[in-house]
Amino acid sequence: MGRLPDPSSRGSAEAATVRLDLAGFITGWSDAATTQFGYRADEVVGRHLLLLSHPDDSDFAELEPPPNGAQEASTTVVRRNKSGETVRLRLTLRVATDADGDPTGLVATYQPLNTDVAPEARLRLYVSLIEDSSQGVLVTDTEGRIVMVNAAFSRLTGYTDQEALGQTADLLSVGRDGSDFLPQIQGALRGAGLWLGEVVGRRKNGEVVPLSLSISTVSDGHGTLTHAFVIFSDITSPRETESRLQHLANFDTVTGLPNRLLLSQLLGQTLTQAKRDNGLGAVLVVQLLRLSHIYDTLGHEVGDDLVAQAGQRLKQALREQDILSRLGHDKLAIALPNMRKHEHAALVAHKVLALLRPAYAVGGLAVDCPVSVGIALYPDNGMDTAALLRCAELANQRAVAADPPLAYFSQEMNERATERFRVEGELRHALAHGELLLYHQPKVSLRTGRIVGAEALVRWQHPRLGLLGPGHFVPIAEDSGLILELGDWVLHEACRQLRDWQARGLTMPPLAVNLSARQFDKYLPKRLDALLATHDLAPQQLKLEITESLMVRGADEVIPIMNELAAMGLGIALDDFGTGYSSLAYLKKFPITTLKIDRAFVTGIPHQGDDCAIARAIVTMGQQMRQEIVAEGVETTAQMAFLRALGCDQLQGYLFSPPVPAADYERLVQQDIRLPLH
Ligand code: C2E
Ligand code: MG
Ligand code: MG
Repeated sequence: MGRLPDPSSRGSAEAATVRLDLAGFITGWSDAATTQFGYRADEVVGRHLLLLSHPDDSDFAELEPPPNGAQEASTTVVRRNKSGETVRLRLTLRVATDADGDPTGLVATYQPLNTDVAPEARLRLYVSLIEDSSQGVLVTDTEGRIVMVNAAFSRLTGYTDQEALGQTADLLSVGRDGSDFLPQIQGALRGAGLWLGEVVGRRKNGEVVPLSLSISTVSDGHGTLTHAFVIFSDITSPRETESRLQHLANFDTVTGLPNRLLLSQLLGQTLTQAKRDNGLGAVLVVQLLRLSHIYDTLGHEVGDDLVAQAGQRLKQALREQDILSRLGHDKLAIALPNMRKHEHAALVAHKVLALLRPAYAVGGLAVDCPVSVGIALYPDNGMDTAALLRCAELANQRAVAADPPLAYFSQEMNERATERFRVEGELRHALAHGELLLYHQPKVSLRTGRIVGAEALVRWQHPRLGLLGPGHFVPIAEDSGLILELGDWVLHEACRQLRDWQARGLTMPPLAVNLSARQFDKYLPKRLDALLATHDLAPQQLKLEITESLMVRGADEVIPIMNELAAMGLGIALDDFGTGYSSLAYLKKFPITTLKIDRAFVTGIPHQGDDCAIARAIVTMGQQMRQEIVAEGVETTAQMAFLRALGCDQLQGYLFSPPVPAADYERLVQQDIRLPLH
């Protein structure tokens, strides 16, 4: 907490100013930003602003320039400071322009939200809260005599404050002798505490009104009760709209199905019953896998129509006592109470898959929307609503990749999920506290034996577990979205390292970094451009390693980005080549400079015929496309000799060197250590 401004001055704290380029990379960082976020300017300039991102605020307003050509926009955001603490801020985003009025970047100013109010201001706030409230307020002394009323009191009852002051609250009673209000107020003043209820009251003009009332007490600094505080509202109209509100609060408006809230209540009741008579049951989570995509591409009406139809199809097939609900945007849930056997759940799940398989007629089109189903059983997997829903959701995550796409929850899933959650939290911490580092693995030329490049491979110096390889955390970072921040860190660190070598007058070959498919968006070229400029590096010093998994983003989206990167002069290597699918189809369209033969094929060389044949085919193909070919994971001289004879250009593997810390790699290059080729 040490870095947060002193609360008493927080209201007037200077706004933090952060300058960004158009891609969201930090170009300027004020002292107030250091106070606010804990990072020093030299730690963040050149890095992407996403390093402040907070899971509660994934929209990241700073990356959206003000709408409709406006020069400035303001909004409230949640960010995370260096220590991982949550900060709520008022963001003002301004477009910075050059002399021609063309945008050159963005200026974000953050004002801490004013959560501490000075005593006098607080008093003024309370008074205006009471005065402006739409609810009637009256305050009585300990005898029950009115000492204060607000404007809404007069409006609701017809009595002016002069008429009300000094009277008891029974002024509003229906009975001639009062007694509707006073006993409750007196009860509260005797220490009965808060009273909530409904009473029938009477206005000055004699009209009778149902009132909803809350009575509480106010005490002085010594705990002696001094006043009763009554808030009331006319509930004539709310009564009428209550059932409508009730419906809105409990049902999804698109499908008309119970929402998560009502499902929880209904399932809760079912479980209470099941506990009494040892009942069996199940909860199914059904995910409409392409729904988000359908909403994005075909629009909201089509998306809504599709969910509603899916709901209808399921409704017809379920029993009276089953509970079908819309759990969230693309998820439905089905509770199956009173099953005789647990196998019944699988039958229903298959039925769900069959019912939702046919295309939907929406917006004049036939649209497919595949689903997955996760199943949790009770009492086996738990006996409370939240636990069962969580289990079914976890099972659903597994089901997405299964064939058929359904899965039962298992304890092992739970353990894995908990473990992942823990690692994710630790990784977040690691990113903020500099626990990550880059190792470098040299690539050597098979013509000269000299080092011609290196690959940067991330490592985590874990405080408890020691040095961890990417296999322990990159997949988790991919799942949780942390990979963006991690990838950003890697790029930044690689550039910082190159810059450092350059500044020390060392000549070092290019460094390759691995990119996750998630990092590959349309902003990537600009981000890299800014990064290279900030570190004063030529694009030829940095290489990017990508894998075919990138194609999940779609060739139409990915290839133009790759072309842009290639045009900037960045070398692109296709990593793990041969392990993906449809490699050949894409290979021709990709502007790649390097093919890396995956270790999986190198392992079998020179004894396994298949592996040798694949390696030969890859080399031949690469040569025809004038791509440089690197063999990964070369461990033996026999492998080296074979690959060299094939015409492979470079080798990366333990035979020459494992990945090593930057200083060791630097020494290998400076001492011109070579791979003996014979
Ligand atoms: P990759 O890009 O294919 O990296 C090569 C991996 O093979 C490295 O494992 C390296 O240590 C290992 N290797 C190299 N030579 C040999 C050898 O002769 N024998 C054996 N058995 N292994 C060898 P590492 O460092 O564990 O990295 C694994 C994967 O993690 C990388 O595969 C890459 O896909 C991913 N990764 C590493 N760093 C990053 C990163 O910064 N960002 C992203 N997105 N992924 C990364
Ligand atoms: Mg790689
Ligand atoms: Mg590889």
